[in-house]
Order: sequence, then structure tokens, then C-alpha cells
Amino acid sequence: MTLKDKLESTIRNVPDFPKPGIQFKDITPIFMDAKLCDEIAENIINTFLHNHGKIDAVCAIESRGFFIGILIANKLQIPLFPVRKAGKLPAKTKSYTYELEYGSATLEIHTDVIKPNWNVMIHDDLLATGGTAMAAAELVKMEGGNVAGFSFIAELDFLNGREKISPYSKNIVSAINFS
Ligand code: AMP
Repeated sequence: MTLKDKLESTIRNVPDFPKPGIQFKDITPIFMDAKLCDEIAENIINTFLHNHGKIDAVCAIESRGFFIGILIANKLQIPLFPVRKAGKLPAKTKSYTYELEYGSATLEIHTDVIKPNWNVMIHDDLLATGGTAMAAAELVKMEGGNVAGFSFIAELDFLNGREKISPYSKNIVSAINFS
């Protein structure tokens, strides 16, 4: 069974969550399977590094980006730092506000985590419209890092998030795509 087949049968579709008309991709069953987690991290690392060479850190997006993000960073023995929703990070932060379908959202980064010119992989569980990953990319750049690329467990092709984030890096890796 390929990794894509395993992910297809493990990721749970929850209709009308969190609101009517949204098909939510519940990735939590993945974390019940230690071998599958390992396989996802290995797959992302291999594909990503094939495209980009060396990276210095992983930027993991709150909160579902933390799970596989830390596994990737740990396997590569490099630092991980989080990007979180406004008000969650305790020390000095910079913030970036972006538009959602209705209203806006703000993400924050600690100001002491990126060394000049670090090559950073931005990781989240899922790429939908790309607004969240784009905000993380803006924060990484604001702090003097280079966006080495993006990685996701899953990507919803029909929302074209790839188009929104490709100006930051063309290195966009997803373990599974849904069309
Ligand atoms: P976006 O900014 O539109 O790319 O949305 C990405 C963020 O929203 C990720 O952190 C996902 O966890 C979450 N998300 C958006 N749409 C879905 C979906 N259909 N299923 C699961 N998570 C989603």
C-alpha cells in the first residue's frame, strides 16, 4: 500500500464541520499510527530536500502543524519554532494580519528565533486557500529568514492555495492531494 493510499484511508472526512458546506479533513487518526507518522515525515523530508538542499529550521503553524513539524525537525536534528494565533506566544513577538473569507486573523512569531538568512521550511497539516501559510511566510521574511518552501500532510487542490504561496517558494510538498 502506498503512503497516499494509507492517508486516503486514514484521514477522516467530516461533513459540515465547522460550518455547513465545509468538508473537514480530520487528520487526528494519523497520530494513532506511529509508523504512519514516521512515513509521512520521511516522505516530506526526502521530497523537500531533493528540491531544496539544506534547511536550518522548521516553522510549524498552530496547532495541527506541530505534530508532524516536530517529527521533521527532530529527524533532521534542526530547530523548530511555532507560529501561533495572536496572544499565545509569551515573549516579544511580531504579528501579521490576513484576510479570511469572513473577517481577518492574526498570526505571531517570537522575535528571537530566526538567525539571519536561515533557510526555513514552513509546515502545516493542510493547505486550503493558502492564507495561513502565506502569513507564516510573511513572518519568516519579516524576521530575516528565507522561505525554503512549504510542506503539508494534505493539500486541497481545488482551493488553489498553491498559487497564493508560490511567490514565496515553488518548493511546495504535500504527502497527499485531494481534488
Ligand atoms: P487556509 O489558510 O485556507 O490554507 O487554511 C489552512 C488552515 O485551516 C490549516 O491550518 C488547516 O488546519 C485548516 N483547514 C482549512 N480547511 C480545512 C479543511 N477542509 N479540513 C481541515 N482543516 C482545514
